[in-house]
Amino acid sequence: MRTCVGCRQCRPAAELVRLVADTGVNPPVVVIDHRKTMSGRGAWLHPDPECLGLAVQRKAFVRAFRIGGLTVDSDLLMREIESVATQRGRHKPATEEQVAEDMSTP
Ligand SMILES: [Zn+2]
Repeated sequence: MRTCVGCRQCRPAAELVRLVADTGVNPPVVVIDHRKTMSGRGAWLHPDPECLGLAVQRKAFVRAFRIGGLTVDSDLLMREIESVATQRGRHKPATEEQVAEDMSTP
């Protein structure tokens, strides 16, 4: 079980998204660890804009990662969270192959 840094509820990790601090950029920034395989300290959050809003409000990420100068691009995270929420809502279990949606290509 993991604790959502937004609403503080304990939920199975499968229901939450993992966030990590990307320290490869300056200043470090909070990113979503979609595969849940990135190293380092992680924070867990519901794929829910409300939980993200709460987490940003109470500076939960700064506290979770303990990294000086950490920035939170809440607009970017909000878009990603919304896309995760949409995907999870639309495609229930993995009965249909997900079309590769590579957000990183321009
Ligand atoms: Zn939550």
